[in-house]
Amino acid sequence: MNCSIDTKCQQLDRSMMDQWGAISFPIYQTATFAHVGLGQSTGYDYTRMQNPTRKQLESIVGYLENGLDAIAFASGMAAIATVMELLKPGDHFIIDEDLYGGSIRLFNEISKKNGLTYTAINMSREDIRPYIQENTKAVYLETPTNPMMNVTDIRKIADITKEKGILLIVDNTFLSPYFQNPLDLGADIVVHSGTKFLGGHHDTIGGFVVVKDQELDERLRFIYKTTGAGLSPFDSWLILRGIRTLAVRLERAQENALKLAYYLRTNKHVTRVIYPGLPDHPGHEIMKKQARGFGAMLTFEVDSAEFAHSILNNVQLIFFAESLGGTETLITYPITQTHADVPQEVLEKNGVTDRLLRLSVGIEGIADIICEFNRVFAIAEKETSKD
Ligand SMILES: *Cc1c(COP(=O)(O)O)cnc(C)c1O
Repeated sequence: MNCSIDTKCQQLDRSMMDQWGAISFPIYQTATFAHVGLGQSTGYDYTRMQNPTRKQLESIVGYLENGLDAIAFASGMAAIATVMELLKPGDHFIIDEDLYGGSIRLFNEISKKNGLTYTAINMSREDIRPYIQENTKAVYLETPTNPMMNVTDIRKIADITKEKGILLIVDNTFLSPYFQNPLDLGADIVVHSGTKFLGGHHDTIGGFVVVKDQELDERLRFIYKTTGAGLSPFDSWLILRGIRTLAVRLERAQENALKLAYYLRTNKHVTRVIYPGLPDHPGHEIMKKQARGFGAMLTFEVDSAEFAHSILNNVQLIFFAESLGGTETLITYPITQTHADVPQEVLEKNGVTDRLLRLSVGIEGIADIICEFNRVFAIAEKETSKD
């Protein structure tokens, strides 16, 4: 059906509706399925391979990303690890140097052990072409990046990867399919941490791989059923429910994020506010072209590590926690949390300092979030001026 993405979030696969007409899709909490007869199947044989609740979720995520198929995993990392199984020893890939810390850990600790090599560059600034080798098989990026919010022109990269026959993999977690559809811009594979905006309530862990090519889908489905990191029926149901409100949550969170970005700029201890929705952000125009919004992730820098620590120690309405994409505002300290396993020289090069804080802006009343910042800024000012 050709309708707005808001409406798409409500479109379940009606062919899967049960005989009772349940509007909330049932949780098929079963490991296995009875066969109708020898050589016959209902389409469901064993939950590691297929499960109706998970299938319903996969169908809506595939639909939102304009993909041929979406595969639901037990976590975002399980999804990314499965995609990396497409490569073989001796292959090389190119990554953006500013990525989710867990992905960098995977590439350093697992991919390398499996005989892969990679080159990390700043894709928002550098041309990827000089880094393409004979054995380069994939390009992996996030846009906006985590936590520096650099914006990469997906279509520009896709034109190059297509010409060279290289896979383009985009982690679309930060924007969700509500704001951005990388497959439409030429990406071959989209990955998501479903834990974040898709789930939306910090109540479950999940991940997705979405593709538009049949052959690639078959290879991924084969790895999936073989390695077995499928999302459980109950967790599938939670994310299915989360998606119903994706549109309203993201609109509100984005609205709050922009207001907060302008507010943060007014504080004399805030040295930098990085939010692509600000017209002077270097990636603002590219985002206007390739996305339908700017998201709810915002990074800011304060004038001392002590000031940052004081903020983290004193927040109340806002939670000091790792993760993003839920209804409540979270503040994260990338250097000790999400990016703790990223080598020091990489952090320094990217500007991930001990003065940097990342916000996942929630859907609270913006006046209350600003009031909270006024309060913690006042405390931090007092605490840091003592010595
Ligand atoms: C959280 C996150 C992941 C990993 O997802 P999990 O569900 O925690 O395994 C990958 N990429 C990005 C951008 C993330 O924010």
